[in-house]
Amino acid sequence: MSGAIPVARPDLGPEEAEAVARVLATGWITQGPEVARFEAELAAFCGAPHAVAVSSCTTALHLALLAVGVGPGQEVIVPSHSFIATANAVRQAGATPVFADVALETLNLDPDDVARRIGPRTRAVLVAHQLGIPAALEPLQALCDRHGLALLEDAACAIGSELLREGAWERIGRPRSRAACLSFHPRKLLTTGDGGAILTADPELAAACRRMRQHGMSVTDAARHAAAQVIFEEYTAPGFNYRLTDLQAAVGRVQLTKLPALLARRRALAARYREALAGCPGLVLLEEPAWARWNYQSFYVRLGPDCPRAQREVMQALLDQGISTRRGVMCSHLEPAYADSPRQGLARSELLRDRGLILPLYAALREEELERAAAALRAAVAG
Ligand SMILES: *Cc1c(COP(=O)(O)O)cnc(C)c1O
Repeated sequence: MSGAIPVARPDLGPEEAEAVARVLATGWITQGPEVARFEAELAAFCGAPHAVAVSSCTTALHLALLAVGVGPGQEVIVPSHSFIATANAVRQAGATPVFADVALETLNLDPDDVARRIGPRTRAVLVAHQLGIPAALEPLQALCDRHGLALLEDAACAIGSELLREGAWERIGRPRSRAACLSFHPRKLLTTGDGGAILTADPELAAACRRMRQHGMSVTDAARHAAAQVIFEEYTAPGFNYRLTDLQAAVGRVQLTKLPALLARRRALAARYREALAGCPGLVLLEEPAWARWNYQSFYVRLGPDCPRAQREVMQALLDQGISTRRGVMCSHLEPAYADSPRQGLARSELLRDRGLILPLYAALREEELERAAAALRAAVAG
């Protein structure tokens, strides 16, 4: 057996270390000029008018929910089939997450099921682009418009993914909704260690998030620092400390320059997986629709009804050969933290949780390693 294959690995090099050292030497190490540059470059990359950098995607979601007026007594429709942070952010805003089911073909919210869950307390819909697979936003936006709801995107996984709109490709984060939130956790394509951002076309929403991330302060540190007159700041509303540091932003700026090559590499590796797994009995591969381009944050497969083996057995068979996998995506409603939530009508989410698999995929994955993982999977699903 040759070396172990992890499921994911961040793509970091000496350039990131040099960028951090350069910022350390300046003496301004949190939410300063480097964060401002990162925000501008990120906004340009995604095609968003405004980007507000914060400490994680979870805190980005919290601020975006507050900024569209979500609060106690209200409900927000979310997928249960997502990382638990999607639901937690709604709780954090004081509201109740209402779980809707997803479509098997996209892994994302099924607009018809969302429609069924809208009630008098519904204030917003928070859709995830799961594993970097874009959700079809148009039907959800139409539904939200009809009911006067805010649409928000959990785009934690989706930097670099694209949607076709009126014949042109647009990146996720060029928000069609009120705001899209990104994550820079090491499991995502672009990492700053931890970090996140709110992307929006709405200048007031961006300004509200900027205030809330910094304790509700009326002036920024940068403005006070640059002023020739003494400025006393004001605290206009309760806020939080959700700052991104300049050390992290420096890493993010380097990562952003590498992202186009990284996306191309991932798409090439995903194409190899597709060839290696095509026609494999017992496996279902998701099709990339003509209207979306995935960033392949993960290569995802599902065990079909004809696969005689359970998810755990297949994963163990691969692990025994040094190949790490992960169970597809969790279901928040099946976790103890959400034991009191209604759990009817979430059968597709549960099926995906119990039959989904994430295979190793990262820029440094060698093609012979990929072939070894694919061959091991073919053998494992055959039983
Ligand atoms: C990773 C992830 C998050 C959380 O991101 P953090 O930056 O770790 O807070 C939220 N939603 C989804 C769908 C994720 O995959």
